[in-house]
Amino acid sequence: MKIAVIGCGYLGAVHAAAMASLGYETVGVDVDEAKIERLRRGEPPFYEPGLPELLKAGVDAGTLRFTTDVSEVAGSDVVFIAVGTPQRAGSDAADLTYVDASIESLLPHIGEGTLVAGKSTVPVGTAQRLADIVAPTGAALAWNPEFLREGFAVEDTLTPDRLVYGVADGDDASVARLDEVYAGILARGTDRLVVNFATAELVKVSANAFLATKISFINAMAELSETVGADVTQLADAIGLDARIGRRFLNAGLGFGGGCLPKDIRAFQARADELGHGQTLGFLREVDQINLRRRDRMVALIDGELAAVGGDRVAMLGLAFKPNSDDVRDSPALDVSRTLQERGRVVKAYDPEASETARRSVPTLEIVGSVDEAIRNADVLALGTEWQQFRDLDPAEVATKTAARVIVDGRNTLDARAWAAVGFKVIGLGRPDTA
Ligand code: NAD
Repeated sequence: MKIAVIGCGYLGAVHAAAMASLGYETVGVDVDEAKIERLRRGEPPFYEPGLPELLKAGVDAGTLRFTTDVSEVAGSDVVFIAVGTPQRAGSDAADLTYVDASIESLLPHIGEGTLVAGKSTVPVGTAQRLADIVAPTGAALAWNPEFLREGFAVEDTLTPDRLVYGVADGDDASVARLDEVYAGILARGTDRLVVNFATAELVKVSANAFLATKISFINAMAELSETVGADVTQLADAIGLDARIGRRFLNAGLGFGGGCLPKDIRAFQARADELGHGQTLGFLREVDQINLRRRDRMVALIDGELAAVGGDRVAMLGLAFKPNSDDVRDSPALDVSRTLQERGRVVKAYDPEASETARRSVPTLEIVGSVDEAIRNADVLALGTEWQQFRDLDPAEVATKTAARVIVDGRNTLDARAWAAVGFKVIGLGRPDTA
């Protein structure tokens, strides 16, 4: 079987490498020459654990190649669409220009027997529209949404919780083709659901909407906890023990970010508006607002502590939107750093992997090469991304390297008592201070 993957970003590069690792002759296509150049050498253009090994194995074995020439998809049995669907400028809706352009570019190179399988996250109704565009070529279209998490992308692609196939009514051939592609994964007993186009599209965005809602729910509890002196982490532990609720995704803090949840809930709401269901998903606006307010809260807490010590220098630990990723798209930590800087604060930031992406996004931000450099002359320390490296910091050692005695833990991840024991005031989000 021959596979093509159009779009080699966080999703597509991993998917292409995973397909090659399953034994398929795979070609990855992207319009970004620099990205393709790196991928050709077997180097991931971004940080993702496990991907370098997978890429190198495929490239060295000759089963995985990369190109900017879309005509090389000719002869593929399955063409996956993995291009970006970012937020449209000046609107909450998804920008589908990349999806449309990729489909358009494929048309001369596909035909009877080709399956075009969309993986990008798209507004409900998109798959049917694209199926109509593809139909005259004789190719079929399916929507096969992707649920991978950055930081676990390889694992999630090769051992997913479930596979969802959205197909046209009675299109058994496309189901059989996808079953063939995923045979190795299905053999492990992975759940596989065959649904129609609209359901497949909704499964993806509703899963993200649910996860975002869960995070904003606990962050709303954090807001209240701050007023009444409750501890939101204890609250989460207590409600999370109820199996109907569950503890995962109940970590209060700086909130969600990245290239998916924020833009997906906005696009979902925008699509619901178009469908006359603005009210149905109106709560997602609240989810978004609660999430963004946490960033303001973190800025206010840092500002307050700077005022208290009469300083203006902040060490920001972490810039990526989550640990084990270099992705800074809509990153809360980067957003807070940028806002502090705009207010005239002197920010020195450090992230183990996201320096390059953060520098591209906010060129004026001072990003240093180590924790020590970031904290050396700081007045207040702040934790924006819960990298293991920061969780592992020894507070006693930190205390010898900085005069700062306050840390604002934006992820409620540090052992507050251990830090307090060596003289730090630890400020969490939604928790009483520890000193
Ligand atoms: P990305 O921006 O990292 O990658 C998109 C890639 O598509 C870029 O490399 C871009 O150059 C390329 N591209 C754009 N137009 C093209 C064209 N016409 N032909 C070929 N290549 C083209 O984005 P991503 O994070 O990989 O996300 C891709 C899609 O997957 C989005 O819809 C996203 O919502 C969805 N998704 C992402 C994740 C994730 O964790 N990143 C998880 C699940 C779903």
